[in-house]
Amino acid sequence: MSSHPVFRDGLLDGQVGIVTGGATGIGLGISTTLAQLGMHVVLASRKPENLQSAVENIVAAGGKATAVAVDVRDQTRVQAMARQVHDELGRIDLLVNNAAGNFYKKSEELSENAWKSVIEIDLYGTFFCTQAVFPYMKAQGGGRVVSTSMTLHYRGWPLMAHATAAKAGVDALTRTLAVEWAEHGIRINAIAPGPIPTEGVRKAFTPPPGAPVPDFFSVDKAMDVFAKATIPLKRWGTPEDIGQMVAYLASPAGDWITGAIFVIDGGEWLAKSKTGM
Ligand code: NAP
Repeated sequence: MSSHPVFRDGLLDGQVGIVTGGATGIGLGISTTLAQLGMHVVLASRKPENLQSAVENIVAAGGKATAVAVDVRDQTRVQAMARQVHDELGRIDLLVNNAAGNFYKKSEELSENAWKSVIEIDLYGTFFCTQAVFPYMKAQGGGRVVSTSMTLHYRGWPLMAHATAAKAGVDALTRTLAVEWAEHGIRINAIAPGPIPTEGVRKAFTPPPGAPVPDFFSVDKAMDVFAKATIPLKRWGTPEDIGQMVAYLASPAGDWITGAIFVIDGGEWLAKSKTGM
C-alpha cells in the first residue's frame, strides 16, 4: 500500500483491529488509514453492501481487510464476532467503537423506541464490543480501545438528548475502564470529532423535498459558509483527520496514554458560545 503522508510505512504491520461502522464515513477514514499503515482491519457493521465495497477498495489499494456483519446492540452476536476475529486472525490489538445512530428530534417527542435505539447503538454497543474483546486483549498482554465520542454534550445541544446522553456515557466508560483494565495493559481512550461532512451531515444542509429553495442555493456553498462562520480553523474536518489520531493511539506513541478524550474539531466547540451556532 502507498506511503502514508505522516506515519512511517508498516507502522502497524502485524496488528489486527476491529472498526465498528468501519465501512462508511468517519469509520471508513479510520479503517483506510489503519490499513495504509499495515494493520489488518476488520470492518464490523450491518449492511453487507457497504462492507463489501469498503473491503474491496481497501484490498485493491494494497491493504488487508475483511468484514463481519454485526449489529452492535446484540451482545451475543458481538461476542461471536470477537471470537471469530480472534480464531481467524490470531489476535485483536485494537477495537475502534465508531458505530452510532443519530437524528435530530425534540426531546418531548422522543419515543421510547427512538431513545432506546440511539442509546443501544452508541452506549450499549460500545460497552458490548469493549467487553467482548477484553479476554483476548488480556490473554495477549494488552490492547487498545478507541471509542468515538462527540463534543455536543460539553454544553446543551437541543434536539440531541439521546446522542448526547449516550456519548457522555461513552466518556465515562472510557475513564472508568482505563483505570480498571490498566493492569492488563489495555489502553482505553476516546476521540471527539467536530463536524465531519458525512452523508448524514450533508443531509442536514439539504432542504427537505418540496421546500422553497432560492436559485443560487447550493449545499456545498451553505456548508462552506457554515464552516467559515463556526469553525476557528475555517474548514470542515475529514475522516482522515480522525483516522490519523486513531493511528497515533494504536502506535507505540500511544503507549502511555489511557483514559484520555481527544477533541479533534478545528476549535469548533470552544468557539460555539461566541458564534451562538
Ligand atoms: P455514519 O456515516 O452514519 O456511520 C455510522 C456507521 O455505524 C455506519 O457504518 C453504520 O453501518 C454503523 N452502524 C449504525 N448502527 C449500527 C449497529 N446497530 N450495529 C453496527 N453498526 C452500526 O456516521 P459518521 O458521521 O461517520 O459518524 C461516525 C462516528 O463519529 C459516530 O460515533 C458519530 O457519533 C461520531 N461523530 C460524528 C460526527 C460528524 O460530524 N460526522 C461528529 C461527532 C461525532 P450500518 O448501518 O451498515 O450498520
